[in-house]
Amino acid sequence: VERTLSIIKPDAVEKNRTGAILAHLEEAGFKILALRRTHLTRAEAEGFYAVHKARPFFGELVEFMTRSPVVIAVLEREDAVNAYRKVMGATDPAKADAGTLRKLFGSSVGENAVHGSDSLENAKIEISYYFPGSLVS
Ligand code: ATP
Ligand code: MG
Repeated sequence: VERTLSIIKPDAVEKNRTGAILAHLEEAGFKILALRRTHLTRAEAEGFYAVHKARPFFGELVEFMTRSPVVIAVLEREDAVNAYRKVMGATDPAKADAGTLRKLFGSSVGENAVHGSDSLENAKIEISYYFPGSLVS
């Protein structure tokens, strides 16, 4: 089995969709190994999305991710990284398949409800970033 990192973003937490998203994930076979609600600092958001630093939307992304609390989860399932990317759907909710989290709960490419690690390597880095200690398998 594999582990991946999920972040329920400020837009979805503000709309009280945290429970609905976690229920959807459990229905899809993910075990929730760790769960934490936190208000990201600017430094945390900038560090987390450092790969996008040069992109035109970086400032907007950091503003959005720090405007109110997020809920961060470690998920476990067979093929977790790819399976969770499929459950999330395309970055832009308008292009996401029916039934995906971003289609169901996202509202725009900026405010798209959830984050997911994009590779097993990054999943390990992201899990240790938010849950330092013994959770990286
Ligand atoms: P995430 O990393 O959040 O799981 P992703 O891997 O689908 O999303 P990335 O290309 O890594 O997409 O972009 C990171 C985040 O930056 C997106 O989730 C989105 O919130 C934001 N973003 C991406 N492209 C745009 C854009 N053109 N305009 C505004 N925000 C964008
Ligand atoms: Mg990404």
